[in-house]
Amino acid sequence: MAGFISQESIEAVKNAADIVSVVSEYVKLDKRGSDFWGCCPFHGEKTASFHVVPDRNAYYCFGCHAGGSSAIKFIQDIEKVSFPEAVDILAKKFAITLTYTDKGDSQTKFDDSKKKTIELYDRVSSTFHFFLTQHPSGKKALEYIKGRGISDETIEKFRIGYSPEDRYWLHRFLKEKNFSDEFLAKSGLFSQNYQNVSFFSDRLMFPIFNRHGECVAMGGRILHAQGENDRKYLNSRELPHYSKKNTLYAFNFARDEIRLKKTAIICEGYMDCIAYHQSGIKNAVATCGTALTEDHIKLIAQTTSGGTVLLSFDSDGAGQEATRKSIFLCRRAGLTVKIVRLRGGKDPAEIMVNYGAQTLTEDVNGAIIDSDYLFENLTHKYPIDTPEGKTKVALEFFPYIDALQNNIQKESSLDLLCQKLNISRQAVERDFNNRQQAQKQTVVTQKVAPVQDFSKLKKNPEIKLLLAVISDTQHFDSVRRELNEDEFETAEAKELFVVLEECAQKGNLSFSNVCEHCGSEELVRFITESVMSGEYATNTAKIVSDGIQLIKQKGLERQRDYILSRIRELGTPEQPEKKDELQQLLHEIMNINNLINSKKE
Ligand SMILES: [Zn+2]
Repeated sequence: MAGFISQESIEAVKNAADIVSVVSEYVKLDKRGSDFWGCCPFHGEKTASFHVVPDRNAYYCFGCHAGGSSAIKFIQDIEKVSFPEAVDILAKKFAITLTYTDKGDSQTKFDDSKKKTIELYDRVSSTFHFFLTQHPSGKKALEYIKGRGISDETIEKFRIGYSPEDRYWLHRFLKEKNFSDEFLAKSGLFSQNYQNVSFFSDRLMFPIFNRHGECVAMGGRILHAQGENDRKYLNSRELPHYSKKNTLYAFNFARDEIRLKKTAIICEGYMDCIAYHQSGIKNAVATCGTALTEDHIKLIAQTTSGGTVLLSFDSDGAGQEATRKSIFLCRRAGLTVKIVRLRGGKDPAEIMVNYGAQTLTEDVNGAIIDSDYLFENLTHKYPIDTPEGKTKVALEFFPYIDALQNNIQKESSLDLLCQKLNISRQAVERDFNNRQQAQKQTVVTQKVAPVQDFSKLKKNPEIKLLLAVISDTQHFDSVRRELNEDEFETAEAKELFVVLEECAQKGNLSFSNVCEHCGSEELVRFITESVMSGEYATNTAKIVSDGIQLIKQKGLERQRDYILSRIRELGTPEQPEKKDELQQLLHEIMNINNLINSKKE
């Protein structure tokens, strides 16, 4: 049912969704005083600069400036979803039944087709699981997976399934359940050319779950290869609710362990990943039929708090190339990288079956640091007893040094290179620097669109006054009593004052409501940063009264300047009405001067 989420529901979600418990699902928070701190989920970091203030329902990162004033905003940013989708996610988490209306605005319009598709995948994956575990048609597939050493418990946990051989079965089945042709055609479960032909048939099925444990896509492994063109694995295509580049298989199962150990194992296949989990190595995830992307790494960097990645890819040529590329990507994200090398088997599942979980665990514990791995490969590739060989090794090792994120590591890696090649540090350094120089010249500098710079406003007394008011809104009464919109000279201050006035009129001066009324993301970020810094938490009353004084004073001075210029204009008038005006102005200027002087005292 598509429609608009009712205001009551939105309010109910806002009230129920406490920011600490929502953020805690993504970030390990530590309590300090009445606030919480953790490593920012929006950029990889090792020290906590992500601040959550429960009283204000707000969060802010002092590193990358991500911030917001409600749990809904946090979910929007972290899950990359729209406002209504974020409301829906939180409603589920806090067991709130949403109600809908047929009127509303784009902010509340909830397109539930993504949600419906996820429900469909969840349902179909359970049906496939039933075929594998309960139905005679899944018997061969079950024998196969058990032959690979996968236990009943694992089959259950990963909801492994079997898609029927009859390519028309799924369509018939879902039509009987009243799903429309139009909806099914867009679901990704059927051939794009023949809408009643199932995309997966006679395959061992691996549901791919999102971080909430809902099935969002599937991968299918072939059981009986008939033609040369039969692909070993088929994967769901990209869909509005599913993107390969930011989904990691088994992340929902691995997240807590990754966070605890600050280490993640990344492998290439569903079976590899499952074998790790069954062997008790529960921080393993896999890509879903794509190379490792920056988004994947960002997710890992957040979850490990900038910790360690163990790469466990195939040892064939393609696997080696993937390893090399992934090392650079992970290092650029500031992660430590190690390579798992499997002894006595080509993949983790084989090792688990042939040698047991213990051997697999030992292989993981014995993972080697990436620089050693790269050297080993390079010295196999090129003879290092010739100048040409040495040059090639160095040139292929330099990008690794580029990717390192701190100088100590860069220095040590240069040292390592000299040592391994038996070459003077000077020579290596010169080549490295020359190469960097040449690269710099070819890189076209990208222009970044200027963002309105609010930080310059920090010292502006009008802004300071209003930030103090936002920090403690009980002071707004005195401000609106003393000042009006026109008395603010700075455009941003005028805007903030109007926002506060609007919120006050609606009787809701809460921090999140004020943020919601602001016109730009940058403004919200600026006030969140300022208020969260605690700068305005002490002496608020004094900042407010001083601010009001100063603005009034400036207003009077402006008025005085205006009158003085008019007096100068009049000169020594002859006409009686101008004489009167002059008299009047002189009287006013005296009053204003008295006022200014009395304020100064
Ligand atoms: Zn951050």
